[in-house]
Amino acid sequence: MRAIDATRLYFDRAADHMDMSESMRELLLTAKREVSVQIAVELDSGDFATYIGYRVQHDDARGPMKGGLRFHPEVDISEVRSLAALMTWKTAVVDLPFGGAKGGIAIDPAKFSPRELERITRKFIDGIHEMIGPDVDIPAPDMGSNSDVMAWIMNQYQKYHGFNPGVVTGKPVELYGIPGREEATGRGVGILAYKMTSRLGRKPQQTRIALQGFGNVGSHAAKFLHESEFKVVAISDVSGGYYRPEGLNIPQALQHAREHKSLKGYKEAERISNEELLELDVELLIPAALGGVITSANAPKVKAPLIIEAANQPVWPDADAVFDERGTIVLPDILANAGGVTVSYFEWVQNRQHYSWGINRVRQELDSVMSTAFERVWSLSQERKVSLRTAAYMLGIGRVSRATVLGGIT
Ligand code: NAD
Repeated sequence: MRAIDATRLYFDRAADHMDMSESMRELLLTAKREVSVQIAVELDSGDFATYIGYRVQHDDARGPMKGGLRFHPEVDISEVRSLAALMTWKTAVVDLPFGGAKGGIAIDPAKFSPRELERITRKFIDGIHEMIGPDVDIPAPDMGSNSDVMAWIMNQYQKYHGFNPGVVTGKPVELYGIPGREEATGRGVGILAYKMTSRLGRKPQQTRIALQGFGNVGSHAAKFLHESEFKVVAISDVSGGYYRPEGLNIPQALQHAREHKSLKGYKEAERISNEELLELDVELLIPAALGGVITSANAPKVKAPLIIEAANQPVWPDADAVFDERGTIVLPDILANAGGVTVSYFEWVQNRQHYSWGINRVRQELDSVMSTAFERVWSLSQERKVSLRTAAYMLGIGRVSRATVLGGIT
């Protein structure tokens, strides 16, 4: 199954509970606009190379479209399409005045010098500058891109359209960015872990956590969870897993990862594989690395009664069915990792107001947005006796379809 089919399946499951017509389903599922552009650039060697860049604008019924720009060798139009649709439901679940979009370039950023990456980014913006803008479509970082890339996007866009930092979010704090954006997705995951476990009557000190991925999302989630007195017993990255049943020293692991750019060589824990981490006897499992890591093959071996999807689509639909059947609770990606786009929204608001909030206010407002969305999804799932995933899709799809009808379809 491709990512786009998984998104469609979850959409249909929710739409079935909403008695949604076929024509409305077709309208909501079809992307508004998709482009692929040629990116021909000069390399440092003096040679030149050509790449393809994609931007899919899925839906703008609720506001300007919003979504990251992914630099990864496996990027293709189908993946970008699926991620763009996920952004539409995600921004609606947390009730931001945005629609959904996504972009990508099929390159491995590690293979390019900073100057080459800058040329690739600027050339991509040359190709799409007319279709983005603070009131139209606002890119942000995603896997493989970062705040430097966002600064180049802002600068290149401004060459055509004049000063307008709100065209892109996730910028460096010194260049119209916002404090707290980097930690936002991981912090949002932590906020929801706290709300979810309290709802289930469990204290942080009694909650052992296995966390896969120690990049932007995973490391900030680990920090927040540790500070909230959860017992993080396992962490991992591409180098493998690190397990300590009594609880890991997270500040020490964070320092190791900062110094070595990886957890590789971290000695204060037992070594396990990433597969073993997913199957540990813990109260909470948080996949925060790749999509598709839990399938029907390993789902029966997952012991955690609660899973929070910090990554996009880590639980595949066949595994979701196993969990539904068994009563394992899954907090879905479109709610769980919405902290990043929420703080991106705060950045956009501040850029437009030419006014800065400061970290405490950003954290407070993030807490408020995530908590409100969680309560809505939780009560909808109780009222309609559906999974949290179906409830989140129902909430998101319902908001988008109402905005579509109110705005006028034809
Ligand atoms: P990142 O590149 O900063 O970190 C990824 C982490 O996963 C790294 O620790 C890496 O070593 C690890 N990893 C890579 N391959 C692995 C493997 N085979 N097994 C185990 N670990 C592996 O990425 P990120 O920004 O932290 O994003 C992680 C996930 O969260 C992605 O699915 C992304 O789409 C999603 N997400 C990120 C944000 C955000 O704001 N960064 C927002 C929403 C969703």
